[in-house]
Amino acid sequence: MDVVSTSRRDGDHRPERPPGTLRIGQIAGVDVLVRASWFIVAALIAIMLAPRINLVAPGLGGLVYVAGVAFAILLYLSVLLHEISHALMAKSFGFEVRSVTLHFLGGVTEIEGESDTAWREFWISVVGPITSLAVAAAAWGVALVTPPGLLLFAFEALAYANLVVGVLNLLPGLPLDGGHVLRALVWGVTGNALRATVVAAWGGRVLAVLALSYPYLISAVWGQRATLYDYAIALIIAFFLWTAASASLATVKVRRKLPSLQARGLARRAVSVPEDLPLAEAVRRAREEHAGGIVVLDRRDGSPSGVVEEAAVAATPQERQPWVSVGSLARHLDEGNTLQVGLAGEDLVRAMQDSPAPAYVLIEPDGSVYGVLDATDVDRAFAEA
Ligand SMILES: [Zn+2]
Repeated sequence: MDVVSTSRRDGDHRPERPPGTLRIGQIAGVDVLVRASWFIVAALIAIMLAPRINLVAPGLGGLVYVAGVAFAILLYLSVLLHEISHALMAKSFGFEVRSVTLHFLGGVTEIEGESDTAWREFWISVVGPITSLAVAAAAWGVALVTPPGLLLFAFEALAYANLVVGVLNLLPGLPLDGGHVLRALVWGVTGNALRATVVAAWGGRVLAVLALSYPYLISAVWGQRATLYDYAIALIIAFFLWTAASASLATVKVRRKLPSLQARGLARRAVSVPEDLPLAEAVRRAREEHAGGIVVLDRRDGSPSGVVEEAAVAATPQERQPWVSVGSLARHLDEGNTLQVGLAGEDLVRAMQDSPAPAYVLIEPDGSVYGVLDATDVDRAFAEA
């Protein structure tokens, strides 16, 4: 019963509910989702367990599969407990938790944003495996006082499965909980969150290679013949670990590039003009000052109210430009389209994501216009960084 659980904390914006996902309810304000792939695994568990159930409870006939499915549900309820413990710990630190999803390899908790301290990361991660180990202990305790039969088998299997889930998830490599724990520890000791991610992600890659060698270990250490099932599981887990660890390494690359993005350095010089000025005159002034942008000022208070985009200028025939006011061509600035020129790195990217626009007006702390920030310039700078 190989079940892994991961907690995504990358804060990226994925759709609320991916296709093939069923919402089964809500716990403490967190959506509980089930992937369609889970049903296949529930059926597989039922089929795999059927011979064992036949041994402990003979004469069930076709009901062995019902018992098998019931056990699969029980198992995933314990995985759900594991995930909910992550969710509740994250919520207690004030994080938004979007959903808990059960899928064929276990579960995933979607937490909005990243842990801001190593300490929080540690607790949000470690509580999951602790919960699984606690469930294992409780199930084992109940098994001790349960008479032989189907129920005893169920409690013993539940204890064993949760022990495996708890221990496996403590392995020190991303995306496993143990990887987050390792990341929190390295982060806490070195004070460098990015380096901590690199260490934990490489831990994940090492685990992926170890997972791949698991069928060989079976034959070499235990002297048993590895089955096709062992190879398949090893391959799936290795692939899962390797891709997720690699994705973590990729985010580090992005993070390292981010600080080089400075709004001030990427700004295009802009001329500020009143909104009733003819376009032809505004274009002439912009050329004269070698400016790459035209900012339109509000007639009443002189604050930036719009940006004239190059495309809009190009789309206006030359002979009409003296007769059109810049104000009529300008794209109105929404709230959030005016940014402080001192913004850089993640703050800059977040500000742009919060109010997407093709161009932003950059202002000095005193409110004067510094220039125009074109979104394509930021994209290009990031690609070249
Ligand atoms: Zn977990």
